[in-house]
Amino acid sequence: MRGRTQRPVSPKHIAIDGPVAGGKSTVALMVARRLNLLYVDTGAMYRAVALAALRDGVELDDGEGLAAIPRRHRIDLEPAGDARGYSVHLDGADVTAQLFQSAVTAAVSTVAAHPEVRRVLVERQREIARQRAVVMAGRDIGTVVLPEARVKVFLTASVDERVRRRLEELRAAGSTIDTATLRAEVERRDHTDSTRSDSPLRPAAGALVLDSSELRAEEVVARIVEFAAGVDRAQA
Ligand code: C5P
Repeated sequence: MRGRTQRPVSPKHIAIDGPVAGGKSTVALMVARRLNLLYVDTGAMYRAVALAALRDGVELDDGEGLAAIPRRHRIDLEPAGDARGYSVHLDGADVTAQLFQSAVTAAVSTVAAHPEVRRVLVERQREIARQRAVVMAGRDIGTVVLPEARVKVFLTASVDERVRRRLEELRAAGSTIDTATLRAEVERRDHTDSTRSDSPLRPAAGALVLDSSELRAEEVVARIVEFAAGVDRAQA
């Protein structure tokens, strides 16, 4: 529970939620660079816990054991000037590339469904947002982590388009995964994320819901920046 004195102070937060491969990471980074805000990919934090669980042999149904990981290990997200926009360090070692390997991707939604894990990571996410104005991307940012964010966006696209984009990314990184396997993985993760009892994926009240199937990233960014400017004007 947050006390009164712990509320995030910045009125500038932007929350971007949406399903797997809906374009959040690309768009959130671009919006953050455009508006000079800190980009925080909360999915990377859940992935870091999943990676450490696989390494440490913690069972994926052990909520308490999984929640102990961010206390036992040091997990740092650091801004970077590259295409991803950040790097993740686990106990001081750069693990960014490992976070997107298939074993971690297969485990992460199960890890993230545990309320014990969410409690720890949500508190860390709020702590980051208390220090700086952020563009925070995830599944529950507008609904749970930063419900007071001035701008909330729910970014989605058709399953076909999301699978096509993810396939392109994975192939570029050297993966040989086939379309049917990837589609099943995306649908399974979407299902787990939207049906879990704690913080299921859904648009926040007042969110700008954008379907990016037919839009380029620059167009999505322009709409979000315009929406944010409109909110600023309305609040002035
Ligand atoms: O965004 P990304 O696909 O990297 O997130 C990995 C997983 O982490 C998601 O499928 C979801 O299970 C979990 N997640 C979450 N809440 C967030 C961000 C990610 O449950 N705020």
